[in-house]
Amino acid sequence: MDKGNIYATASGIVKINTKDRSISVIPVTNTPPHIQVGDIVIGQVTDVKDSVALVEIAGIKGKGEREIVNADQAAIHVSNVKDAYVKELYYEFAPFDIVKARVIDLRNMRLTTVDKELGVMKAYCGNCRAVLKIDNGKLKCPKCERTETRKISSDYGTGIV
Ligand code: ZN
Repeated sequence: MDKGNIYATASGIVKINTKDRSISVIPVTNTPPHIQVGDIVIGQVTDVKDSVALVEIAGIKGKGEREIVNADQAAIHVSNVKDAYVKELYYEFAPFDIVKARVIDLRNMRLTTVDKELGVMKAYCGNCRAVLKIDNGKLKCPKCERTETRKISSDYGTGIV
């Protein structure tokens, strides 16, 4: 207790029992999530270089929006973008893109977006920053009509992770 407020020592779901006037906290899990090889992660592209796109990881699929213990920065190498030759990484990712990717290497924090459900989930217009929409299989800005290319996920724009 602190200044009349009650704080729990563990995070979880608060349960109030009105009969015996008690409050308990049911822990969600004992340990925070750790990234493992094979996990699907969601993150934001922070930088695109010649051979790698840098991604700030925001969450692990199926493990909620909780803070991740063992990683924050990851990279998608040009060879792990898609099942085809990538000429320019700048055609596949751009800063601020939200991506869904699978963890393939923990030591160097490498991700892959080769599968069709993996890739960019949300992208912003490089000209006016509006969210790009899919129009006849291409990404198009609804505001300024600019078209852009990305390695998009089959779930692009659905909000489904
Ligand atoms: Zn635009």
